[in-house]
Amino acid sequence: MSKPDYKRILLKLSGEALMGDQAFGIDPDTVARMAEEVKAAKDTGLEICLVIGGGNIFRGMAGAAKGMDRAQADYMGMLATIMNALAMQNALEQLGVPTRVQSAIEMDKVCEPVIRRRAARHLEKGRIVIFAAGVGAPYFTTDSGAALRAAEMNCDALLKGTSVDGVYNADPKQDVGAIRYDTLSFDKVLQDNLKVMDASAVALCRDNDIPIVVFSIREQGNLAQILSGGGISTTVSNQG
Ligand code: UDP
Repeated sequence: MSKPDYKRILLKLSGEALMGDQAFGIDPDTVARMAEEVKAAKDTGLEICLVIGGGNIFRGMAGAAKGMDRAQADYMGMLATIMNALAMQNALEQLGVPTRVQSAIEMDKVCEPVIRRRAARHLEKGRIVIFAAGVGAPYFTTDSGAALRAAEMNCDALLKGTSVDGVYNADPKQDVGAIRYDTLSFDKVLQDNLKVMDASAVALCRDNDIPIVVFSIREQGNLAQILSGGGISTTVSNQG
């Protein structure tokens, strides 16, 4: 595979990527390891926007399933993503990587609000911008937040780091015969309801022609390898 021609990417990590072997919350050693992966990606010369989920702390759907008001629970989930963003900011800055957190829910004691032009300036100056609180509205997820920021920041691709090394035709954790796709079209993902990101995020990427690259963030060095044209991943695009 040749080196992809990316200048600016959006990297989406699920909240679970910060959890390590714990069942819940933020494991500082794991966050430090993730920060090293992000730094290695930045050191390939890219501008990086980062979105981190909140599932390691709270998911609105889980709260709603236990009888909470869905919107209220979703706002709690958004607050969880701000904690994760601050944890990642701390870990990146300990590695000497300058960052800014911009949150879709304003919280001016701890971070900036989302201001697109200011974010662009940060990126130009070599800072990583961590976008927190998703789209800032309930009934969405951080996948949609990632797709939205990728579109408005003119990112060349959305890289989604998960615990699986790509998109399969069945759940590889359940079915040993599951086959990984190298490439896929957005339409096939939507038609076959393949688990890449939620449908609104996939549709936003399709309509704005932003490829989604799904890869495992658990393999050390994998992200930097993918950015250099190697590694294992699935690319979802309009060419797919
Ligand atoms: N959330 C929301 N709107 C958004 C982004 C997130 O309501 O724009 C809430 C939602 O409840 C979600 C939670 O925040 O479950 C955590 O985000 P997500 O589930 O996307 O995290 P991940 O699965 O990536 O860890």
